[in-house]
Amino acid sequence: MAFVISDECISCGACAADCPVGAISEGSGKYEIDADTCIDCGSCAGACPVGAPAQA
Ligand code: SF4
Ligand code: SF4
Repeated sequence: MAFVISDECISCGACAADCPVGAISEGSGKYEIDADTCIDCGSCAGACPVGAPAQA
């Protein structure tokens, strides 16, 4: 199960900088996680100021 970023995302980029496997990239309107690359470490959830990433 990968992490997923909700619509609460404000596109600050903090999660992408903290992802150890480069699974996060900027999408249209919010950042997105590549489910096939994500290793479920939870770093993005810890880095996000608005709690947008959550385990799916
Ligand atoms: Fe990257 Fe970890 Fe977040 Fe998955 S849970 S997107 S590996 S920071
Ligand atoms: Fe969006 Fe949170 Fe990532 Fe910032 S840290 S880009 S608000 S998901």
